[in-house]
Amino acid sequence: MSEMTRRSVFLDEIGLGPLWLRRDGGLASAEPIEADMAPAEAIPAAALHGQQLEPVMQNRAEISAWGGDEPISAPPAVVHAANSPAAMDWTQLQTAVAGCTACGLCHGRKNTVFGVGDSKAKWLFIGEGPGRNEDIQGEPFVGPAGKLLDNILLAMGLKRGDNAYIANVVKCRPTDGTGRDRPPAADEVAACMPYLQRQIELIQPTILVALGKTAALSLLGLDPATPVSKLRGTVHRYADRPLVVTYHPAYLLRQLGDKGKVWSDLCLAMSTYANAGE
Ligand code: SF4
Repeated sequence: MSEMTRRSVFLDEIGLGPLWLRRDGGLASAEPIEADMAPAEAIPAAALHGQQLEPVMQNRAEISAWGGDEPISAPPAVVHAANSPAAMDWTQLQTAVAGCTACGLCHGRKNTVFGVGDSKAKWLFIGEGPGRNEDIQGEPFVGPAGKLLDNILLAMGLKRGDNAYIANVVKCRPTDGTGRDRPPAADEVAACMPYLQRQIELIQPTILVALGKTAALSLLGLDPATPVSKLRGTVHRYADRPLVVTYHPAYLLRQLGDKGKVWSDLCLAMSTYANAGE
């Protein structure tokens, strides 16, 4: 089975087919990017951009989840009680996360969810935070959304643990007063972001893919009112690395009609990766 056929099979399997081929043999979007999904202006990264390893996010509002475009509320101050992760190696970082009490999410967790995959991966996928299944298993993206992400990775010629690493913005599960999953609050994102920043520094990925609104806004330091739809279709930069934004798989499970848009985003990511010489 050729590479192209294999991808087509996977795309069909996850409902992203048909896979259109350009005359030059390259991949084309399963559906065109809509006019109202035009790239946002190039937006300068704010304080969370790479070099800044101390928690900031002072002007960041509470971020809404799973790629939705809901309005969000005002930011709390940032407190980070842990030692700075900036100088930690991989093992030290894992240990620090496992014992972290830098924000209130530590109280309700069963497990911290550090990340999973190839620690030297060229592809880094970043989601929002652990849900119930992830909290129980200590691994990101398990359950239906994880299965969808795995199939997307396969369609891209990747797989969990092989040139791909998967992490979240926060390492502990955020829940509301009824025990249901919720988006992390601004102070929780700010407290946890230094861990992700250090993971990125240690992994040295060629490209980052932000899965959903929380990941995109956290990494790019954008106005929290920015909808995901305005972030798609362009290549952003994070710490001098390309970053492509797409919808979170959990959102995609609820909005099956947007799968073609996700494939468009991933085609952009793959062409960006190829142009980076990898
Ligand atoms: S979410 Fe992050 S900062 Fe908060 S307790 Fe967990 S590991 Fe620490």
